Amino acid sequence: MRYPGGVTALAGVSLDITEGEMLAIVGPSGSGKSTLLHIMGTLDRPTSGTVRLGGLDVAGLSDRQLSALRGRWLGFVFQQFHLTAGLSAAENVATGLLYAGVARRHRRSLALAALDRVGMAHRVTHLPHQLSGGERQRVAIARALVHQPALLLADEPTGALDTRTGQAVLDLLYRLHAEGTTIAVITHDRDIAARLPRRVELRDGHLVADSGRVVTPR
Ligand code: ADP
Repeated sequence: MRYPGGVTALAGVSLDITEGEMLAIVGPSGSGKSTLLHIMGTLDRPTSGTVRLGGLDVAGLSDRQLSALRGRWLGFVFQQFHLTAGLSAAENVATGLLYAGVARRHRRSLALAALDRVGMAHRVTHLPHQLSGGERQRVAIARALVHQPALLLADEPTGALDTRTGQAVLDLLYRLHAEGTTIAVITHDRDIAARLPRRVELRDGHLVADSGRVVTPR
């Protein structure tokens, strides 16, 4: 991946993720982690190379088709939560269904079920500013999961949280993985990476280590 201005942020990276995996993508700042996440998440198109999602080469898809594909197959969790201010927890989670082709009348009950799954059933009417950082991230995770994506992409999901809260969020991701969700976590934190079944390491845009695939039997 080359950015305008000539920075080659990724080169020769080949990464295969199998259904049921949980992996960490680790590396120091500037090593290309976010670039890889954007490419895997079809948010950016690579300068060269191929991205396949469920066997489908996404290069031939229009931006509109890509956004529909993301809405159905991918879930995103970011460091800064990115909840919509002024929408309740339940409404925020329901927005995760907007592009998944779910009828409006089903959205609320699915959102409530997703909030229950992340331990937030007692906060469904709270607005983001009424929630703690850890609670906001749980809501964001519920939003990312509510349409049952094939792959959950989490970019430094504990980066804005204190150690204990971050640990709880990681425990949650771990449990969701044990329940069958495929998860890729981007992190610069080696302690977090050490807890995940597979670790892929980037350095200066190159994939320099891969501990190998571990698929947890369900
Ligand atoms: P990380 O997530 O590991 O910190 P990034 O993927 O953000 O790394 O960045 C990898 C490299 O690409 C860095 O050298 C960064 O400065 C550069 N880069 C990232 N985004 C852009 C952009 N939009 N335009 C130009 N260069 C970029």
